[in-house]
Amino acid sequence: MSNVFLQSVEKVYDQAAKLIPMAPGLDHKIKVTNSSYIVRFGVRLRGKMQTFVGYRSVHSEHFEPVKGGIRYSLDVSLEEVEALAMLMTFKCALVEVPFGGSKGGLYINPQDWSEEELERITRRFTQELAKRDLISPSQNVPAPDMGTGEREMAWMADEYRRLNSIEINAWACVTGKPVGKGGIQGRVEATGRGVQYALRAFFDHPEDVKKTGLTPGLSGKRIIVQGLGNVGYHAALFLSEEDGAMITHVLERGGSVVNPKGINIRALKDHMATHGSIEGFDGFTASGMEMLEEDADILIPAAMELVITDSNASRIKTPLIIEAANGPITAEADEILTKRGTVIIPDLYANAGGVTVSYFEWIKNLSHIRFGRMQRRESYDHFSAIIQGVEAMTGKPFPEKQRQHALTGSTELTLVRSGLEDTMREAYANISREWNTNPDVPNMRIAAMKIAIERVVKSYGSLGI
Ligand code: NAD
Repeated sequence: MSNVFLQSVEKVYDQAAKLIPMAPGLDHKIKVTNSSYIVRFGVRLRGKMQTFVGYRSVHSEHFEPVKGGIRYSLDVSLEEVEALAMLMTFKCALVEVPFGGSKGGLYINPQDWSEEELERITRRFTQELAKRDLISPSQNVPAPDMGTGEREMAWMADEYRRLNSIEINAWACVTGKPVGKGGIQGRVEATGRGVQYALRAFFDHPEDVKKTGLTPGLSGKRIIVQGLGNVGYHAALFLSEEDGAMITHVLERGGSVVNPKGINIRALKDHMATHGSIEGFDGFTASGMEMLEEDADILIPAAMELVITDSNASRIKTPLIIEAANGPITAEADEILTKRGTVIIPDLYANAGGVTVSYFEWIKNLSHIRFGRMQRRESYDHFSAIIQGVEAMTGKPFPEKQRQHALTGSTELTLVRSGLEDTMREAYANISREWNTNPDVPNMRIAAMKIAIERVVKSYGSLGI
């Protein structure tokens, strides 16, 4: 199956690369993965030596460090990691994050191991990666992905620091760390937040909304979400609590929850934390994948790759799909959906919020200062003076709400959010322009890939290639 994923990504690349003039052979060089590393390592656990298989692929080093998550899953394979690393190269280029593309994986079901065992396995994996500079602030910076989170990143950073005790920038060796361990405010929810900003940007482009036949605005839109993990949960939470959208279907392991009036996402997540699954929650049904085909306005696959294939694509009813997961739609399914007029906001762009805020975290680690620390008091004094001036001139008190807003100043969280929103809006505007003005560009996926490849070509060009 993961071969299908790699082939799908390569097909998109080929289609977009054809539209770009390049030096002979350069299109192939940009397409291929530079290197892949497979490690088999042992950890003594439960009275015997257990062998684990890990991967780290580096797709492109046109910028360094290279960047990409590490996933823990039993679906991990070399082809899957290479497909994900390739996506990372173009994702970073698309949102103008100066990293090359990489990705890693460990063939493991995290649920099979205790926390203590997972820590030992993660630390050992980190040692293997460190030996080959596949974790390093200047060479290769992992991040969380499916099956990993802040906890694993904290173990990795700590192990790297132990191995490199005089490296001043050691914290920058991974991103997605807890805030108290070199992380940044807003990183945990960044990918889901990015999905929200992507949808807001889409609805701010009436010419694009028109292609779906949807009414303007996110408010009241009925949404199907697959996967209530890090990305799916945060996207669903923000869209329902802040934008007035209704999450009518949630597909998770073991079944689905359906509520035409909108599911309380916070309560469902609490239920999952308490009971270990969605079973027993109001509206639970044992139905699974067929729920993707339900009637709604927007579909958000946020679990894993290859869920919409040529066998179910023609039954998908939502006019708009936003790929919060990487590679949820195969190339064949993409063709079927595009022909039917379904609008797809592609993974390359839709889930780029994570790497964008990872970039902010990496910069924070290298500069050894929290964002906003130097400016906050200065900005308070500055706005106080303006407010006093306005009050003196008008003889009236400055409105309280605006006073509070002006004097609160920028915190790390507000700066991260505004940097992320700006990045997502800017990238959306570029994709939309390309899609709407270039007759050779059939959809947003090719538009996004074309913009990304052009930037990589430019970067090679500045090396004289
Ligand atoms: P996660 O492990 O936190 O969540 C995945 C969720 O999907 C889990 O709740 C799991 O139970 C559910 N799931 C698994 N199999 C399922 C199935 N068959 N049907 C329905 N639900 C199922 O992972 P995540 O970090 O949220 O990543 C999800 C996707 O987003 C992946 O494709 C990942 O590559 C992509 N992504 C993640 C990030 C990030 O910052 N975490 C960034 C970019 C892209």
